[in-house]
Amino acid sequence: MNAQRDNHYDIVIAGGGMVGSSLALGLAPLGLRVAIIEPVPRAAETQPSFDDRSTALSRSSQRMFQAMGLWDDIVAAATPILHIHVSDQGRFGFSHIDADEQGVEALGYVVINRVLGGVLQTALGKVESLDVLCPARIVATGPAPGSATVTVEEGDDQSRELSCDLLVAADGANSQVRTMLGIAATQIEYGQRAVIGNLLPEKPLQNVAYERFTPQGPLALLPVADDRAGFVWTVSEQNADRVLALDDESFLKELQHAFGNRLGEFSKVGKRAAYPLLLSKAMRLTAQRAVLVGNAAHGLHPVAAQGFNLGLRDVASLCDCIADARRDAGADADIGSELVLERYSNWRRGDQKKLVGFTDGLVRLFGDTRGPVRALRNIGMLGFDLIPGMRSLFAKHTMGLAGRLPRLSRGVPLS
Ligand SMILES: Cc1cc2nc3c(=O)[nH]c(=O)nc-3n(C[C@H](O)[C@H](O)[C@H](O)COP(=O)(O)OP(=O)(O)OC[C@H]3O[C@@H](n4cnc5c(N)ncnc54)[C@H](O)[C@@H]3O)c2cc1C
Repeated sequence: MNAQRDNHYDIVIAGGGMVGSSLALGLAPLGLRVAIIEPVPRAAETQPSFDDRSTALSRSSQRMFQAMGLWDDIVAAATPILHIHVSDQGRFGFSHIDADEQGVEALGYVVINRVLGGVLQTALGKVESLDVLCPARIVATGPAPGSATVTVEEGDDQSRELSCDLLVAADGANSQVRTMLGIAATQIEYGQRAVIGNLLPEKPLQNVAYERFTPQGPLALLPVADDRAGFVWTVSEQNADRVLALDDESFLKELQHAFGNRLGEFSKVGKRAAYPLLLSKAMRLTAQRAVLVGNAAHGLHPVAAQGFNLGLRDVASLCDCIADARRDAGADADIGSELVLERYSNWRRGDQKKLVGFTDGLVRLFGDTRGPVRALRNIGMLGFDLIPGMRSLFAKHTMGLAGRLPRLSRGVPLS
């Protein structure tokens, strides 16, 4: 292969986090020449995607990993969610959603990001048509006739020019590639931080995921391995540093107070970390020969555990658009053409808008402590089961089965 060809890829993916890596694996059956550009090695303590968070994977994400041949490795380290229990601190009302009632074997599965990262990395190593440049980062991009150019900085300030038919920004909520492409994004800070970690409850969760709304923000407890619970505790920005600095005993006491005694006494809390929470939305999903996926396109509050699941549906839709272009025009199809990008953008806009509205609405509705709103909410919680379609809509979003789904999200392999 000559040097010019060597530096040309069908697709360059900026960001080898959860979404960028999944995209490279989703595309693998198409045999395209793909490069991932990622600044932080997966095993590094500072890797922002594959860290100690527990992620709840929806049914559509499960089906997608099944279609990609990765599910057996993921499920070996995952815990099924059979029930979801939603409650409001200080109120009697609560609601629950059951897998049986929904006619599914599980509503979702909980996996630790670091573990998922290991499975994805092993699979990436087996894709022959893929190059992973790491540590490396994209420092500039621009259009060229019939392609996009990408300047990549590798260690020691060495830079290299690549070209590609399609550039995919999967570099997270503060996407620099999105900025380089001239796509603006709105960012709204919630004034909250999510404190995450895991603990041992006296009574095992028995495959129940708990979501509890408190005046400070939502608190989720997810079932993970060894009868432990992964927690995502939203605290106000003003309170976050204090909560993080508490010794283990005081921390558990405050968390217990927020959650209540439904699971008995909490003990043995693990390492804690905190994430600032914001809602980010890109104004457009495409630029010339470029698309946005995952958090680069939309960053959600983790209240409904949907950010990665939504990002995977971006991935599945993009894979569908590219596979269809190649089915229609053969191996010479222009996969970065405006037609392909427009199809992707039109397809994704609705799902993203719905999820952004749904999660932001939940945060605002349940975060509002004013009397009338709280009173109305209380009626809502008590009547949650009675509002026609409400629970099944919630369940559908949770399972990721709303709207028109691409092949991979339906569990259909690309080839
Ligand atoms: C507390 C918390 C709990 C969550 N729980 C859930 C859950 O249960 N279920 C769920 O579906 N979602 C959940 N999410 C959301 C989920 O974590 C994100 O949606 C997901 O990580 C997005 O992945 P991403 O690959 O798009 O972005 P990121 O995870 O941010 O990864 C971006 C990658 O791009 C790399 N990068 C950065 N700059 C550059 C550059 N210039 N060039 C190239 N690469 C670059 C980074 O190093 C990183 O590897 C949660 C989020 C939080 C904060």
